[in-house]
Amino acid sequence: MANIISGKELSARLKADMAAEVATFGAKYGRVPHLTVILVGEDPGSVSYVTGKAKASAEVGIRNTTIRKPATIAEEELLGIIAGLNADPEVDGILVQLPLPKHIDEQKVIAAIDETKDVDGFHPLNVAALWQKQPCTLPCTPKGIVKMLKTAGVEIAGKRAVVIGRSNIVGLPVSKLLLDENATVTVTHSRTRDLAEVTRGAEILVVAIGRPKFVTADMVAEGAVVIDVGVNRDPETGKLCGDVDFAAVEPKASVITPVPGGVGPMTICCLMENTIECFLRKMQAR
Ligand code: NAP
Repeated sequence: MANIISGKELSARLKADMAAEVATFGAKYGRVPHLTVILVGEDPGSVSYVTGKAKASAEVGIRNTTIRKPATIAEEELLGIIAGLNADPEVDGILVQLPLPKHIDEQKVIAAIDETKDVDGFHPLNVAALWQKQPCTLPCTPKGIVKMLKTAGVEIAGKRAVVIGRSNIVGLPVSKLLLDENATVTVTHSRTRDLAEVTRGAEILVVAIGRPKFVTADMVAEGAVVIDVGVNRDPETGKLCGDVDFAAVEPKASVITPVPGGVGPMTICCLMENTIECFLRKMQAR
C-alpha cells in the first residue's frame, strides 16, 4: 500500500497558514495582495481553473479580479490590458489563463507581463533566472510537486528521477527543480526509445503527458515515488483521471499522488504563495 499524498489536504493547511499571514497585511502595509486573472474565451477547462483561482484567493484573503474577454479579442487589445495592469501599483500579480486563441501569440503575451508581477513564473526573465539558479518566481506546478515530495518526507538528493514530458510549464521546470535538489534527472518525451525501460529505473517518477492512464504497472519499479500531473477525462467513465493508471500502479509505489486531489490543488496553492511573494517583494522595496 502506497502512501497517498493528498494535495487537497496539504494545500488546505498551507492556505490556512497563508490566510493567517495575509490577515496581518492590512495593518502592516495598508492593503492585501491583489491578483488579476485574464480569461479569454469560454473554454470550460479554463473557466473552471479561473473559478478555482478566485475561490482560493477568497480563502487566503487575497483580492482577486477576473477580467473576462471574448475569444475574438485582438492581440493588441489584450496587450493594452496587460500594459495597464503592469502600470497599476495596486496590482501585484497578473495571470493570463492559457491556452489563448490561435490568433494570439502566447509568448508575446507572457513576455508583455511585468516580470515582477508574473505569478505563473512563465516570463522569459523568470525562466532564465530559474535555469541560472537566481531568485525568481517559480512556476506553480513544479513548485507544488517539490513541496509535496518534501512534505511526504521523500529524500530527493541522490535519487534517480525520471520525468515524462518536456513542456515549458511542467516537464522542463520540474526537471530543473529536481536537479537543484540533487536528484539525477532523466527527461523523457514522445521520441524516447524504450520508455518503459527508462521509467522502470526511476526512484522518483513524475508524469506530465496528458494521456489518460498512460503509465501502467509494468513501467514502474517496486517502491517508486510516483507523481501524476496529468488531468484527463477517462474515455470509459468520463471522470477525471491522471496520466497514471492509479489502481494498477498504487500497490507497487511507495508514495503516489491521486487525480483529482493531488498536484492540481497544490498548483493553485503555489499560485497564492507566488502572489504573496510578489506583493511582499514590492512592499519591502518601498
Ligand atoms: P504538453 O505541453 O502537451 O506536453 C506533453 C509532453 O508529453 C510533451 O513533452 C510530449 O513529448 C510528452 N509526451 C506525449 N506523448 C508521449 C508519449 N507517448 N511518451 C512520452 N512522452 C510523451 O502538456 P503539459 O502542459 O506539460 O501538461 C501535461 C499534463 O499535465 C496535461 O494532462 C495537463 O492537463 C496536466 N497539467 C496539470 C497541471 C496541474 O496543476 N495538475 C498543471 C499543468 C498541466 P514531445 O515534447 O516529444 O511532444
